[in-house]
Amino acid sequence: MPFFTPKPMIEDTYRHRGLRQKLVEKLRQKGISNEAVLSALGKVPRHAFFDGALLSHAYEDKAFPIGEGQTISQPYTVAFQSEKLMVASGQRILEIGTGSGYQACVLLELGAVVYTIEYNEKLFERTRNFLPEMGYHPFFVLGDGSKGLRSKAPFDRILVTAGAPVVPTELKDQLAENGVLVIPVGTLDKQKMLRITRKGSTFTTEEFDNFAFVPLLGKDGWNGGNKNS
Ligand code: SAH
Repeated sequence: MPFFTPKPMIEDTYRHRGLRQKLVEKLRQKGISNEAVLSALGKVPRHAFFDGALLSHAYEDKAFPIGEGQTISQPYTVAFQSEKLMVASGQRILEIGTGSGYQACVLLELGAVVYTIEYNEKLFERTRNFLPEMGYHPFFVLGDGSKGLRSKAPFDRILVTAGAPVVPTELKDQLAENGVLVIPVGTLDKQKMLRITRKGSTFTTEEFDNFAFVPLLGKDGWNGGNKNS
């Protein structure tokens, strides 16, 4: 069973760095061009999220199970969302769906202040303990991210890393002026990546490629009465 288990010390060898650089080159070939994003993915030790025996998988461009029926996102997906989010250093970001914490690490490497919400209590506990061991310190929140995080709003950027049936109104409301929300919206099998930009009370939506994320749960997610499967 592939598992991401906390390790007391994260070894980052020459070999790991080499594999990571190869992954970065692959992402570049696949169309990721933002140098800050590529450099951030080049810094996060993705192998630390995997068991030793699974090292060879850590730097493949694939999603991977992390227990609790959840996955660590595919590096391309993480790079794509990070690029579309147009992150600048110092921005306050809300990430919905902490999962393994890998995406949160990438946002921290981009210089952001990161609030990350997870709905699943076990994943929340595991990641909250594990990320600081690697030196990554987002603010961890347990709760329903489909409602955003009103107490810490507004956010410069909001990133949803689970597939949503609709764009939750709360998330739009919690965007700062010129704020950007990146969210995959669609059915349970397939979602279109949307980027929504706020200017005053006007919201502009851009559409990108299709992806397949695990479902966003909660009030404005799949168990809140939305049925567009
Ligand atoms: N960003 C993660 C991948 C996320 S997978 C990474 O880098 O590894 C999607 C995650 O969203 C899962 O952990 C799931 O439990 C969580 N999730 C689903 N619905 C949620 C909700 N309403 N609020 C917060 N988290 C949610």
